[in-house]
Formats: sequence, C-alpha cells, structure tokens
Amino acid sequence: MASKSNGPALVAGNSYYLPAMSNAGLFKGYVIDPGSVGYADVGRDDIHTVLITHGHNDHFRRAREFRERGARVIASKEDALLVRNPEVNVRGLFSWARPPKEMITPYFQGDACEVDLYIEDWLDSSIRAIYLPGHTLGEYGFITEDGVLYSADSLYSKELWGKYKLPYSIDPDLCRESIRKIKTLDFDYLVPGHGDPLSREDALKAADFHLSQLDFVDEVVLELLREPVSTESLVTKFCYELDLYKSLNNYWLTLVMLKGHLSSLNHQGRVAYKLENYCMFWFKSK
Ligand SMILES: [Zn+2]
Repeated sequence: MASKSNGPALVAGNSYYLPAMSNAGLFKGYVIDPGSVGYADVGRDDIHTVLITHGHNDHFRRAREFRERGARVIASKEDALLVRNPEVNVRGLFSWARPPKEMITPYFQGDACEVDLYIEDWLDSSIRAIYLPGHTLGEYGFITEDGVLYSADSLYSKELWGKYKLPYSIDPDLCRESIRKIKTLDFDYLVPGHGDPLSREDALKAADFHLSQLDFVDEVVLELLREPVSTESLVTKFCYELDLYKSLNNYWLTLVMLKGHLSSLNHQGRVAYKLENYCMFWFKSK
C-alpha cells in the first residue's frame, strides 16, 4: 500500500504521530501500528520496538519492514495469532470457511509478521499498555509519559462516525467497558487509529458520543425486532435504516456487528430467538 504520511507530527514531548489512513505513533525508539506507514516514513533509524495495538492488518501491514531491520515486534497474546496469521481474520468473518476472494475485507488482508514478545510480558514505565478490548478481543492502547494516549480503534471520533456510520466491533459490551475505562485515564491528548488527534476534552466528548451510538444501534435493532425477523432480513432492514454503503465488505462487517448486539441484548433478556424451518428468527422479548 502506498504511504500517505508526510512525516511525524508532534503531539507532546517525545510523542509523535504519523497521519495516515491508519495513524502510526512514534515515541522514542517505539513505533506504534505501522499499518499504512513504513520504515522510510518514520525517518529515523533507532526504532527498536514495534507495538501493535490489535490484529487488524491495516494496523500492522508494514511491521515486517522494521523487524527485518532488527526491531522486535510486540502484540497481545490474544491478537498475536492474527498478526502471525492474518488468514484467521479473513476466515473468522466467514464463519471459518474460506470466503470467495471478493468477500475478503481489505482491512484483514496482507502481510503476516512474527511476534517476538507479548504485551502482557513487556514493561516500560515511560509507555504503558492499557487493555481496551471490544473491537478485537486483545486490543490494547498505549499511554506515554507525555500524557498521550494512542487508543487505536477502541474509540471513534465524531468525524469517523460520520464517515463510516457503523465502525466495526465484535462485542459492544466490552467496547462500552473500554470506553468507560478511557474516560478514567490520565491523558492530555488522544491519538485515535483513524482521524485527527483529540484534546482530552474532545476525547471525553467522543467517548460519550461513542457510548450513545452503541445504545442507538441497540434501539434500532429493538425497533426492527417488534416482529420476528430472520438474521438475513435484519441485516437488510438495518442497512436501509442507517443508509449504509452498499458493498460486500460492509455487508459482512455489519453482520458481525449485529450478531454482537443481538447477543448482548439477549444476555440482557431484551431479545429472544427461535429456529423455525431452518431459519433463525430474532424478536424483542415481551
Ligand atoms: Zn481495527
């Protein structure tokens, strides 16, 4: 993928970021999430460690460039599997079967990279790992001694919600927990995986907006389930309701998102299901 970065931009102290399709972070000898940007974009030859926030290829596609030059690669125990073998994500989205080529989301496609150390076994007091699951099961953010939080895809800015309408997550309840955790952290600036850095004040607003959007998706689903609706019909109705972009990619991502919300609502006793004539129906609990 072509580099989109114009070089590192200062956030605070020694904490920089490289604006790109997927932002990369830069702190002393660490590079965070080299997905869209590679070795040449970083402009320094002292990178000793690649930190990967989560196992989506748009966040680690170019990690290998740094590893080949001697840097160690660190990812969480849970997501290291996805970094070492991106095929797991590709198949996961298709219920573990092999999807037709056109149905593979570009975010999940790309270069595998060996992981040398797990986040859980790594410690540096100048940059700490914060567990923020929900977008994947093993997502972490990183907070530097400069008060900069690299939050990856755990928090979407309002700008991003306008663009994607339904950013991907696999577990809305874990997402809620992670966003509430972000609100309690001591940081001055937040660098999201996608979009511009936010001041603390704007990040807290974005957190509340993200939480409200998760509730909004629940409400739309509940409204559509006044009568029993099949999983397939629910995807269609939901996509029309939110006027989502019509693409194969979006179809599969929306299906996973909706399964996450259906499961969450079922655990809360607000949605029930039945299998009838080989078709799965969901409906609002009375
Ligand atoms: Zn992601």
